Amino acid sequence: MKYFIKTFGCQMNFSDSERIAGKLEEIGYKSASNDKEADLIILNTCSVRQSAEDRVWGAVNNYKKKKLYPRNSKIIVTGCIAKRKKVVEKMDKVDIFLDIKDLNKLPKLLNQNGIQAKNTNDYFQIKPKYQNSFTAYVPIMTGCDNFCSYCIVPFTRGRETSRPMEEILEEVKGLVKQGYKEIWLLGQNVNSYINHERIKSELKTNKGSDFVILLEEINKLPGKFWIRFVSSHPKDMGDNLIKVISHNGHITPYVHLALQSGDNETLRKMNRHYTCEDYLKLVKKIRKAIPDVFLATDIIVGFPGETQKQFLNTVKIFKQARFSMVYINKYSPREGTASFKMKDNVSMAEKDRRAKELNRALSKIALDNNKKLVGRQLEVLIDGRAKDGLYIGKDKSYRSVKIKSEKDLIGQFIRVKIKKAFDYGLEGEIVILDL
Ligand code: SF4
Repeated sequence: MKYFIKTFGCQMNFSDSERIAGKLEEIGYKSASNDKEADLIILNTCSVRQSAEDRVWGAVNNYKKKKLYPRNSKIIVTGCIAKRKKVVEKMDKVDIFLDIKDLNKLPKLLNQNGIQAKNTNDYFQIKPKYQNSFTAYVPIMTGCDNFCSYCIVPFTRGRETSRPMEEILEEVKGLVKQGYKEIWLLGQNVNSYINHERIKSELKTNKGSDFVILLEEINKLPGKFWIRFVSSHPKDMGDNLIKVISHNGHITPYVHLALQSGDNETLRKMNRHYTCEDYLKLVKKIRKAIPDVFLATDIIVGFPGETQKQFLNTVKIFKQARFSMVYINKYSPREGTASFKMKDNVSMAEKDRRAKELNRALSKIALDNNKKLVGRQLEVLIDGRAKDGLYIGKDKSYRSVKIKSEKDLIGQFIRVKIKKAFDYGLEGEIVILDL
């Protein structure tokens, strides 16, 4: 029996897919190279935006309508959508809806009575099947207690749950031993990670947040590897966290700090608990402590009631913060959230226009940032090949770098001298292979 997993959405979902694959292989399933060969098609979904939900809905319909699959494959839907009652009612063609926290029940749902899966009740303890041999995702917490007014995550993923620190350190140590070079620590809100064991044992040694302690422990590990983490909420980005990133150890100078809007009234309506002034102060502090930082952010355009003047406030802060990357989302109302009750009064055409204007500003800032790197040598982890045949990878700060090579370099650290700068990346020549 073969399975095929299609993942939609964020890194957290990619990490979940690795655990789903691990669970299925435990009970004897093998990975199919495409969906046509699969007896089991798993759609690991995202419902942060309506467009993502529509794509899953389209995929389910296509699978069943076209009857492409003589195997009469079963369709499983998991991830955020699987917890939305209305979607479950609508998607009557789906065989199994699976709450990701119930992944352990999957063998039973598939009637795999003969083959025993390990009886772990804890989702975090399921052994993942990592997608490649150099980058791995390690979930450290899940869920969110912040209830931003537009966001469905606290309702689909539930409240925050953190994983014991020892377990995370064991997984990271194991990965380093196996030669993994880039490890992502994941959670909806990584910097509100809590080590429950410390609280239980009433250790009073917590000088900073538990997340900072976790990073300090990882920084002590020997070996050559990079640690990245997402996502961080600006309100939880403390001085100790900035300090541990600035140490230039395993923790990379990649900071993804969602701004969402550059207008204080909109931020208040979004329930974000910071002002533009707070955010800019934080950016200043980060840039001072970590000069080589790659600052990424998320912006929502067209939030209910967002006027042209309020949008221009976002453009202004955008230029002041000088982001290297921005993920722009056009607002879409999600039933069950607080903003669903607000009038979605910015037209789609206007949302498109605002998104384009921000993208133009980003291109200019990113190009200026990148031009400063021409002539510099950067360490790069090669992770694939671009359409033009060049090898592509990321430097420690998460900048995209392309190089030409006759030799297969995927999964290797190399040193590159930067020759050309573009708005979304850099191109260079190899100086040292195999760092
Ligand atoms: S912090 Fe806000 S946007 Fe992020 S997951 Fe939590 S509720 Fe959603």
